[in-house]
Amino acid sequence: MAVDKNDLNNLPRLLLPCVRCGQCRSVCPVFLAKGVESDSPRGRMTLVRALLEGKLKPSDLLNEKLQQCLLCRTCVMECPSGVHVDRVIIAAREKLAEKKGIPLKKKVITRWLLPNLNRLAAFMPAAALLEGIVAVRVSGGYYRPRLNLPLVGKRLLPSVGGKRPEFLTSSTGGSFSASSAGRRVVFFTGCMTNMAYPRVAGAVVEVLRRHGVEVVIPKELVCCGLPMLAAGDRESFLRVREENIKVFKKYPGLAIITACASCGSTLKEYYAGGIEGKVYDFTEFLLGEVDFQPPRGVVERKITYHDPCHLRKAQQIKEQPRRLLKSIPGVQYQEVKEPDRCCGFGGTFSLSFPDLSQEIGITKVQALMDTGADTVVTACPGCMLQLADGLYNRQSAAAVMHVAEVLAAAYRAEERQN
Ligand code: SF4
Ligand code: SF4
Repeated sequence: MAVDKNDLNNLPRLLLPCVRCGQCRSVCPVFLAKGVESDSPRGRMTLVRALLEGKLKPSDLLNEKLQQCLLCRTCVMECPSGVHVDRVIIAAREKLAEKKGIPLKKKVITRWLLPNLNRLAAFMPAAALLEGIVAVRVSGGYYRPRLNLPLVGKRLLPSVGGKRPEFLTSSTGGSFSASSAGRRVVFFTGCMTNMAYPRVAGAVVEVLRRHGVEVVIPKELVCCGLPMLAAGDRESFLRVREENIKVFKKYPGLAIITACASCGSTLKEYYAGGIEGKVYDFTEFLLGEVDFQPPRGVVERKITYHDPCHLRKAQQIKEQPRRLLKSIPGVQYQEVKEPDRCCGFGGTFSLSFPDLSQEIGITKVQALMDTGADTVVTACPGCMLQLADGLYNRQSAAAVMHVAEVLAAAYRAEERQN
């Protein structure tokens, strides 16, 4: 997909196929939570059309209506006319940002925090100290804020003081090569994995290395840019995109692996034409690009799986994670009802609208709990945090893991058995 102003310039063309049938309403998690037409995909399309036709002026209310979209693409999958609702929303947000600017809270996140996240790694020990003061440690290694914190409110925080793999500890430039004899790949860890779930990054490297893959993790990579794009801040998005492309060019032709559904979909769609190497989700790579060796170690867990929207709907990857999990001896797999239901995280959506995000998450979390699983597995660190928060709030003891973590546990069990 082109990353210039095409979507903004082509907004009328993108809107054209919408015949206002309303089929999208029945699946939109925001509409299902709020029950208001203007919060449905069709309602948003009508608002954007009115904005373009000059029947509606930019306003805070209009901005809120457009911001209250998770960009989950559930409506896109449902739409018989093939309307790219997510692209319309992103372009409309950009149009509003041109007129009214980016809200300060979003600017702090997209222009300062995320582009500098890797450089902030050096401050992790101080952040861990602070986390221990303002929050209480709860099960699963998470922290519960004692009081409403800026940006996150009382949402569960991942531990920032845990052990970090060697390849994530340096905050300076250079690359870490988890060396092995076979194929070389670049691992795009992404902000959430890097900062909140380094244990997932460790598991990804471990599993890939067991398949003879040499993993290069360039320290200079920055945020994939999705939060900037979603905020309508294309300028910031293009800046980080350019920064990442420069780094990828140092590794011409190498496959790029992600273990974050949102990073993966952004790299696949919005970096097209800028990078030479093919982008793969970790599960897709493992089953499609190497000779996958199912683990022989036993993992006694009753597992259910949550499909990240950016994996199932944006990348059409739904079978691979399930096949990997079912390949593990000892795993009892239980499918969840309505597997394509969004968890309500939506990246910065969860920071801007924490109550709505949690409310949307309740339905998903309840469905996952109804499976009776002791472990909820997913393939996106954002979903992991949202589900951990939702499960904690409903007093569930279920663990939340990434597919890579369960696989790594099985390979370790295999080693112990031998
Ligand atoms: S976006 Fe698609 S499903 Fe929704 S009202 Fe328009 S045409 Fe119908
Ligand atoms: S992308 Fe998701 S939240 Fe946004 S309108 Fe479509 S279904 Fe609703």
